[in-house]
Amino acid sequence: MLKEKCGVFSVVSAGSSDAFVPLYWGLVAQNHRGHESYGFLTYSEGLKRYVDLGLVPRIEREEILRWQMLLPGKRGIAHVRYGTSGKRDVYSHLRDAQPMVVSQGRSKMGIAFNGNLVNIGWLRGALASKVPKTRATSDTELLCRYLASKANGGTMEAIGSCMEEIEGAYSVVGLRSNGELFAFRDPLGIRPLCLGRSKDGSITAVSSETVGLDINSFSLIGEVEPGEAIVFTGESMERSRVARCPRRALCGFELSYFSRPDSIINGRPVYKTREEFGRNLGRRYQEYVRRADVIVSIPETAEDAAYGLHEETGLRWERTLRRHRFVTHRAFILESEDRRVTIDRKINIADGGLRGKKVIVVEDSIVRGDTTKTIISKLRERGAEEVYMFVTFPRITHPCFYGIDMATFTELIGFMHDEAEIAEQIGADAVCYQPLEDFVRATGMRGEDLCMACVTGKYPTELAQRIADGVKSRVNQDGTRVYELEA
Ligand code: SF4
Repeated sequence: MLKEKCGVFSVVSAGSSDAFVPLYWGLVAQNHRGHESYGFLTYSEGLKRYVDLGLVPRIEREEILRWQMLLPGKRGIAHVRYGTSGKRDVYSHLRDAQPMVVSQGRSKMGIAFNGNLVNIGWLRGALASKVPKTRATSDTELLCRYLASKANGGTMEAIGSCMEEIEGAYSVVGLRSNGELFAFRDPLGIRPLCLGRSKDGSITAVSSETVGLDINSFSLIGEVEPGEAIVFTGESMERSRVARCPRRALCGFELSYFSRPDSIINGRPVYKTREEFGRNLGRRYQEYVRRADVIVSIPETAEDAAYGLHEETGLRWERTLRRHRFVTHRAFILESEDRRVTIDRKINIADGGLRGKKVIVVEDSIVRGDTTKTIISKLRERGAEEVYMFVTFPRITHPCFYGIDMATFTELIGFMHDEAEIAEQIGADAVCYQPLEDFVRATGMRGEDLCMACVTGKYPTELAQRIADGVKSRVNQDGTRVYELEA
């Protein structure tokens, strides 16, 4: 299973309401994007910050006043984190929790960041002369220091420089100690970011996903466009395209796995796209559909595709795999536990009439293959006679440098093996990936508006392409070994 990346949310209230309550709910709605830590930063005659480890906590009604006093003000930003860079110990998680705040002279700036920077080496070098040695292990502090170092010339200008010089995926919300709140999205729009408003118009919010708006009963205004910056100063809001955008490149994985099914991407709920993925798989792999007795799905991101497949084929969808409902945290899943125990803690497989059956298992993706392998072996213990994997995301053959937890070639089963070998490795009778062209068609988007680099090896940014090509050429020369290059 891949781990989720981060989620961001911001609120500017021009009415009587404080920012904390909508900020809190905006974060709760997006907790699927990060379980390691959460945090808030609000502005009221200065910045007030609170961060902690784990899931966004349950807050009882009588506690709200205490939280509002802790985090006062009418504007704020918030973050849930799963880090794909930086160290993984508890101390580092807390130190790298966001929003991250840095000082620049007498002023301060905080940001909450979803994405990953590719030219981090360049950024470290560029900041080395200006910034005392940083203790942070994540790239967020570097990004924040970069912005803060440029902010004297104006927030919009600082964001413009960032977009000119920093390569990578970044959807960001930020807050300055002068009360200015800002949001921006990288020139390719790799990670999602959207803008919404309360029904009475008094509160404006920016959210990674539209579900952060829905839970607050806010209306969606639209996407923050790739290369766009929004700055809230006093009562005014300024929107500006500050970067030239050669193309769009929304991460295709958001559609298969990351985003909540009820979020809207490209004007359509994500679950509708996933249903279409399932229908595509049914049309494409009729031979296995004819042989199969039953469909099962791996909860929860594959369930909409399984429904689509069921609708398309008329095959029974047996919901024998169930997620343990309240096990959403990772804290008690020990690193040393074997994969089987970890799966048992998350997913239960009921003895649901699979004995002697030929089973189609719908999954959103296969990255390393270890989770899938364990689930297949458990299905066989339940009596499944044959197992055909139907996978909505095409075969992943290349690493991601844009913030998804798969940064090396060697960890990818799809880089090391073809479909038949993968089936053998994971114990399936067949592995059927949704072809790229079917995937793109189902999204309703143009292929050139999506990043599918982990499938095609064609990266939307230059340095990422050079890194991937550099690694590959070393593989070709060596023939057997794979080396990873430093970004
Ligand atoms: S390389 Fe893959 S996972 Fe990474 S941003 Fe592109 S589509 Fe998403």
